[in-house]
Amino acid sequence: MPDTIDPSLQHAYKEVLRRNPGEHEFHQAVEEVLGTLGPVVKRHPHYLAERVIERLCEPERQIIFRVPWTDDVGQVQINRGFRVEYSSVLGPYKGGLRFHPSVLLGTVKFLGFEQIFKNALTGLPIGGGKGGSDFDPKGRSDTEVMRFCQSFMTELYRHIGEYTDVPAGDIGVGAREIGYLFGQYKRITNRYEGGVITGKGLAWGGSQARTEATGYGTVVFAQEMAKHAGLGFEGHDVVVSGSGNVAIYAIEKVNQLGGRVLACSDSSGYVVDEQGIDLELLKEVKEVQRGRVQDYATARSSARFVDGGSVWDVPCQVALPCATQNELDEHAAAALVRGGTEIVAEGANMPCTPAAVRVFQQAGVLFGPGKAANAGGVATSALEMQQNASRDSWTFEHTEERLAAIMRRIHERVVTTAEDYDRPGDYVFGANATGFVQVADSMLAMGVI
Ligand code: GLU
Repeated sequence: MPDTIDPSLQHAYKEVLRRNPGEHEFHQAVEEVLGTLGPVVKRHPHYLAERVIERLCEPERQIIFRVPWTDDVGQVQINRGFRVEYSSVLGPYKGGLRFHPSVLLGTVKFLGFEQIFKNALTGLPIGGGKGGSDFDPKGRSDTEVMRFCQSFMTELYRHIGEYTDVPAGDIGVGAREIGYLFGQYKRITNRYEGGVITGKGLAWGGSQARTEATGYGTVVFAQEMAKHAGLGFEGHDVVVSGSGNVAIYAIEKVNQLGGRVLACSDSSGYVVDEQGIDLELLKEVKEVQRGRVQDYATARSSARFVDGGSVWDVPCQVALPCATQNELDEHAAAALVRGGTEIVAEGANMPCTPAAVRVFQQAGVLFGPGKAANAGGVATSALEMQQNASRDSWTFEHTEERLAAIMRRIHERVVTTAEDYDRPGDYVFGANATGFVQVADSMLAMGVI
């Protein structure tokens, strides 16, 4: 039993281990939240009596389905589809779909669990859910991706709806996949129900700034952390991991704020560019050519590619992990601390291992967990739902301003809670406690659900 978990919560955690064997990422996500809730249940003992935590550890509904489809050479392929409808206390289940070969039920449960508290932090009426498949879009043609998405939606459509469950993108699911998924939903239901999925194209019900939102929001959050601690942002060296949607728009916002991004990465290695990452080139390589960061280095003389290396070896003041879960361990964290890192904000979901987070906290590095720092994506999805419901469409400036205000408000709520519990600067505690209390109180108001 991890000693981070308060004795009053250990039974709940044991039950999670017993009921969900082998689901390590789910265990980790639950442990991380339960590990911070000791002082909260001490102050509100009725949460224990009402067994709120045990209830929240069990998803409301878990859907697993077969996704058969035919590839371009006529071969039948079989994938597994998931949707974990975790909590609908604050609104319809809301969260993305991840298409990646590593996706298992436990992956989707960990992401769904995190999503509940993240979505609560946005202050918008959205519950928590997540879905996906072990389908790998890499190396597949557009027509294969379309046939897969159509088959996936042919099962999923019966479970979702603008008032029920609203999927969106995540790793491996971008504008192309959302288009195919929405198109199939529309055909099957014969309804133009824009608010059933977010991340839609701008011409057909999507929101301005949704594509940019997760990356932009993460940087705005990091900037708030810096401001709060009396640190600057301008002129800082920043390292971003990943080179997908979150990473690209984090880089864009850092550039706008006067910082310089020295490096980014993908699963094969990283690129360092002493002149700062050239965003237009990176977008061309990743979004148009669907290539690798190595291709970026080949095309740019100031850049070099480090095959298989850790991007966290590049010294920086601000580190933004924007790739995937558990990408930054305690060794990488120690390297960052040695390199002078002052701020870490998670653009991805759970990219830092618990040991890495401990290294940061012990070294006095400000650490912004994903639940707070990357909530801008789902928050802007909620703004997309709002525009769809009112049959309206806002300008980029207005939407971005709403996003920035939401990020500032999340920062303020998290900081206030941490101070209220005499843990100033503890963003992990502040985020978990704020999200949890809102969900718990709402749940109790609705009876035994
Ligand atoms: N996949 C994103 C996340 O992890 C966005 C989800 C959404 O927009 O619903 O929060």
